Amino acid sequence: MVTKKNYWIYLTFILLIIGACKKGASNKGTGNNDPGIEKPVEVAYSPNTTVYGSNKYVTFKVGDVNSPIILASPHDGTITPSTMPLRDHKDAVTVRDTYLTGLTEEIADALYAKTGLRPHVIINDVARSRMEPNRSLAEAYHKSEAANALWREYHTFLKGARDMVQKNVGKGLFLDMHGHGHTKKRVEVGYTVSIANLNATDAVLNTVPTTSSIYHLAKTSSYTFSQLIRGDFAFGTMLQDEGVNAVPSKQDPRPNNDDYFNGGYCTSTYGSRNGGEVSAIQLETPNDGFRMSAAERKVSGGRMADAIIKYMKKHYGLYSNIK
Ligand SMILES: [Zn+2]
Repeated sequence: MVTKKNYWIYLTFILLIIGACKKGASNKGTGNNDPGIEKPVEVAYSPNTTVYGSNKYVTFKVGDVNSPIILASPHDGTITPSTMPLRDHKDAVTVRDTYLTGLTEEIADALYAKTGLRPHVIINDVARSRMEPNRSLAEAYHKSEAANALWREYHTFLKGARDMVQKNVGKGLFLDMHGHGHTKKRVEVGYTVSIANLNATDAVLNTVPTTSSIYHLAKTSSYTFSQLIRGDFAFGTMLQDEGVNAVPSKQDPRPNNDDYFNGGYCTSTYGSRNGGEVSAIQLETPNDGFRMSAAERKVSGGRMADAIIKYMKKHYGLYSNIK
């Protein structure tokens, strides 16, 4: 017989078990010490739905349950909420990555059309001058708690997507989409490997896979690390093969002294540098001739999707049924 007193004892016991299980799940393979996301919200997302954050400032287009791909557009927002003052710290970068959300959506649409699987897509619509998703909270130099809260929402979505891929596919690729205005019109492919190491010999480069956001790939691949960075089947080389200039690649192996971004906070945090089977690559795209018109974005998005599919076939053994 369950008395009232016993009932409460039972209930407390069950809640304690549930709490312990949740704790175990949330700690699994995150390897992340950022204070902003050390207590991740446990959220289950329904595949092929759209989820919004507060005020619809950030959006998570949840992809197919079997999709191995995550795309994010953090720097193309234009909304300037009055609750989020200008980030005017001297070290705060505030430039917008113009039309990157449009380009990202073209890639997502092309991936869906070619593979039948919608990728996961995370979009921030607030101006970078007010909220910076691609820095740690400590280095975002936000001027309000509202911006910090929005940052957490964005990262809850990104982590949710990463965890979905990890759980449902077991491995995957996160592509953080950006835009640069550098002189050389080429995609800068960032793996969080230092420029000095990229400019070094293959022998030196082969000693530093642990510093990369594709560390899991490097550990499991039959290719050497330098081959993964600038060999026949490196991501940059596959972009080149689709008619998209890219560095590093077989055709353009080293950034040398030219402007080049090697990957930021999100690439470092949600790639496999700190563990897990989801790797990450930052793609810094050129502007003129690549993403400044709808026609350019459609062509570029299709080419990038083709490179992504070939990369997943070659290195992940996925999409084997896709021509
Ligand atoms: Zn950017």
